[in-house]
Amino acid sequence: MDWLNLKARLLAEGSIRLSGVEAPPYISSSAAGPGAGGSGSVFFSNGEGRVRLSLDPGSRIELVHLGAGKAVLYMEGQEIEGYLEPVALHCPRQAYLTLSGGCVYRCRYCEVPAINSARKTPEQIEAMVESVADRIDAISLTSGVLYDLQEEEDYVLEVVRRLKKFEIPLGVSIFPGINTAEKLSAGGVAEVKFNIEAATVKIFAGMCPDLDRDLVWKALQTAVPLFGRGHVFSNLIIGLGETDEEAEQCIRALCERGVIPVLRPLNPAGELKTWKRPSAKRLLRLFTIHGQALKDSGLDPGSAVSMCVSCTGCDLGPGRDAPL
Ligand code: SF4
Repeated sequence: MDWLNLKARLLAEGSIRLSGVEAPPYISSSAAGPGAGGSGSVFFSNGEGRVRLSLDPGSRIELVHLGAGKAVLYMEGQEIEGYLEPVALHCPRQAYLTLSGGCVYRCRYCEVPAINSARKTPEQIEAMVESVADRIDAISLTSGVLYDLQEEEDYVLEVVRRLKKFEIPLGVSIFPGINTAEKLSAGGVAEVKFNIEAATVKIFAGMCPDLDRDLVWKALQTAVPLFGRGHVFSNLIIGLGETDEEAEQCIRALCERGVIPVLRPLNPAGELKTWKRPSAKRLLRLFTIHGQALKDSGLDPGSAVSMCVSCTGCDLGPGRDAPL
């Protein structure tokens, strides 16, 4: 099985049963991203790409850690050799931090409001980055909205100022207000991710009733000339009830504006716990559409330096998991 098909199947399944030698340096526990607040996840690679897999003792797929990162996947009667990647903070080669673990908004697919962990202080964040600074290529920041958009943005900017001393590329993904892109650019941030989340206005309104999708579009459009084409990203969740045609329209609209879409398979969580993850077949179909749209707009995910486009653990990444 080639890497792309293997990764699509693993993403459709979402989890593995980890056995063998204890693997603490390879286990990530996160307050953000798919699997937030769960029992942790690992990053499996065969050298061609990486995939993040949540740990679930009930999973149908077994991953045996043989020691020193060497690992074997047992899936659908096949044995696939590879290795576990060591995690810096949240993911390999990055310090990806969630500043505010709680959120006043109630997006239906999100676990963060339920986790409601406290906000990290700038001192804590600086110390956390310091602890991994010698083995990361990027610092990435994300956050819930603890009080309101303006207060959160001010807090993130304060943290950004503090982290500049590391001279490591910084990516930021927060819900944007009116001038967020300008302020992050002026603060020295290299890349931003403002998430459009749902393919259509109607689905977004149903999933994120308190948020303004137009603000995200405006922020993305403002951001492209500031950060450059291909250095502005936007998550689009696949599996919220959109058709492939609707997903394609949204992907193309983002690409045409110079924004790289991140096609995030739904991780059934929050109020959507009983929903299904998208199938491997659908992920592969959309991967082709995604790759073509990027190509048509002259966008290269390979030049991204931070956050999910650089990591690719949770998504099929055209230009990363397979050439464009
Ligand atoms: S793709 Fe994004 S959310 Fe997933 S592990 Fe990587 S950085 Fe985290």
